[in-house]
Amino acid sequence: MILARLTRAIREQNWFAVAVEFIIVILGVVIGFQVTAWNSARQERVDEAAFLARLHADIELAENLSQRVRERRLQRIGEIVEAIDILFGRSDADALTDTQCAALGASHYYDIYTADLAAFTELTSIGRVGILRDAELRRALVQYEQVRTRLHQLITLLSAEGIALPQLFPDLISVSARHDASSDEVRNQTSCDLGGMRANRHFLNAASANADAYDAYVRDGLRPWSDQLAQLHRQIDLILGIDHASEAAP
Ligand SMILES: [Zn+2]
Repeated sequence: MILARLTRAIREQNWFAVAVEFIIVILGVVIGFQVTAWNSARQERVDEAAFLARLHADIELAENLSQRVRERRLQRIGEIVEAIDILFGRSDADALTDTQCAALGASHYYDIYTADLAAFTELTSIGRVGILRDAELRRALVQYEQVRTRLHQLITLLSAEGIALPQLFPDLISVSARHDASSDEVRNQTSCDLGGMRANRHFLNAASANADAYDAYVRDGLRPWSDQLAQLHRQIDLILGIDHASEAAP
């Protein structure tokens, strides 16, 4: 229609009509582009909202799946340091508590399950990280992946160096497994011979090496990952307007 009118106007040398038809054509194209852009932006907002909801679920899953072991591992470094101080006579205590003894016996355990943030992995793989408008969140997600990778590298590295004290020194530190009815899991009961440990230079060296490795594991791997996971959760809660404290209130 427009083309026919334009052709007729040119033939009749009606330049005013030609100009009007051109303006109509250009306006049509501009409006068409604008509508496409609006639709695209609206779709991105819809996709972003869906991603944020999935990311929140991924973070909660990562926290829940690791919580028990994470808390135990983070607490253990303090118990190992206390045990080492007692071993080397730097403490007034003249006996190891069950907890300190157990910490020594497990001072070569570093493994922990760090669930993948599947929604972010998917967003990255399809090259759509740009739909996230919050630059702080994008940065936090990238940092999370970095500390998670670092934790895995440390676990691999330290697992090759960690010394299983109960296996190497069974006379000094013995372990007996038992079923704990309250948690419905098998727990180890560890017994320590403090006098024998203090008199055995090989044991003191091995325990010291484990304490050093465990400190590196917590300081450079476990705590940065755990803190970044918590930080991510706070950020996403803020964006989504989620308040877990009020959810938990009666
Ligand atoms: Zn939350």
